Amino acid sequence: MTKAQKVLVIGGGVGGLAVAIGLHQQGIDVEVVERDKDWKVYHVGIIVQANFVRALNVLGIGDKAVKAGYAYRGARFVDLNGNVLKELPGDTAVDGLPSDLGLTRPALHKVLTEKTLELGIPVRLGVTFESFEDNGENVAVQFSDGTSGSYDLVIGADGNYSAVRKVLWPDARPQYTGQGVWRYNVPRPKGLDWSDIYVGKDKGKVGYCPLTEEDMYIFAVFEEPGNPRFAPETLANEMRKRLEGYGGIMAEAAAHVTDPNLVVYRPLEACIMPAPWYKGRVVLIGDAAHSATPHLGQGAAMAIEDAVVLAEELGTRDVDAALDAFMERRFERAKLVGTSSIMLGEWDMHPETAGDPIELTDRIRKKLAEPV
Ligand SMILES: Cc1cc2nc3c(=O)[nH]c(=O)nc-3n(C[C@H](O)[C@H](O)[C@H](O)COP(=O)(O)OP(=O)(O)OC[C@H]3O[C@@H](n4cnc5c(N)ncnc54)[C@H](O)[C@@H]3O)c2cc1C
Repeated sequence: MTKAQKVLVIGGGVGGLAVAIGLHQQGIDVEVVERDKDWKVYHVGIIVQANFVRALNVLGIGDKAVKAGYAYRGARFVDLNGNVLKELPGDTAVDGLPSDLGLTRPALHKVLTEKTLELGIPVRLGVTFESFEDNGENVAVQFSDGTSGSYDLVIGADGNYSAVRKVLWPDARPQYTGQGVWRYNVPRPKGLDWSDIYVGKDKGKVGYCPLTEEDMYIFAVFEEPGNPRFAPETLANEMRKRLEGYGGIMAEAAAHVTDPNLVVYRPLEACIMPAPWYKGRVVLIGDAAHSATPHLGQGAAMAIEDAVVLAEELGTRDVDAALDAFMERRFERAKLVGTSSIMLGEWDMHPETAGDPIELTDRIRKKLAEPV
């Protein structure tokens, strides 16, 4: 049994690029295929915390991500009028770097793609796999551009609707949780240095998070019975309806939601795979293995933590031992984030049986600030 020398990553998103960078650092030959020929990402922002900064720091791009985003003080739960109920200040995990950060998804994409290309990691755009055959020692892959290759390990980092997962576990698929999330970028009020989450309305919650000196983004997570599809031209009106009845900063921010083309709406669909996330020489990471809802703002951090841990283990052990060690270090943590996120959504929809979302959020934030 030998260590992996040649690895294929399917999917050039958050986890895929992070694992490619990590494997390159370990001296492992790695290549990436990405289905989207334009390598595009959605334009809204993402919320991340101390564990995201720490994981990117291991990859040598923590400071770049911080500079690309906006560091703020932490999360605050507020009532419907914007009065503060509880502050959850961020605990930094890396000396000299902040904890809570908002950044646009394109800004994170730029940090990851620049590092990948700077390291000379081959990335083939507009290409995916047609089929793969695992013969126990390596995996023979046929690609959509007619080429083929043989790899010691294939990593499926192809997101929530993973085609790699479908081959390995055909019955596993994301399930609608009952809620949808609405997102929109608006101007950041001067002096706003917290991400506020408004609680007190049944069926959902709203909030905002600074992204840059100029911008912040609003999110609204609500029960959407029957998983409706909305006509694109109605999206701004629909989102504003969900922002009605809130005071404080949200009242002013909601008035900026006017262009239906700039609303990003997603039904929440989650898929948390049982252990192990691998079969033979093919392993899943990120959303492909454990997609959750956005209630804890942890999707990107979980994908990057997976990447860092998998690269570390593959750099030090043979493939089978590395995959076991990877599961040992990742499964419970990712499951905790996934199940807690889904539970927070359940509590939004069923307040009569809800626990305390502020206490749960605080507990998970502290837990995730601990090293992996
Ligand atoms: C609108 C929105 C807002 C979000 N906000 C937050 C947030 O605030 N905080 C947070 O932490 N997370 C957030 N998330 C979740 C976060 O983006 C994901 O958890 C994270 O990107 C997961 O990384 P990943 O690498 O698993 O998947 P992705 O980053 O989705 O990457 C998957 C990649 O695989 C490619 N791909 C797909 N199929 C194939 C195939 N068959 N072959 C080759 N390539 C393929 C895709 O094109 C994509 O580039 C948000 C997600 C959305 C949609």
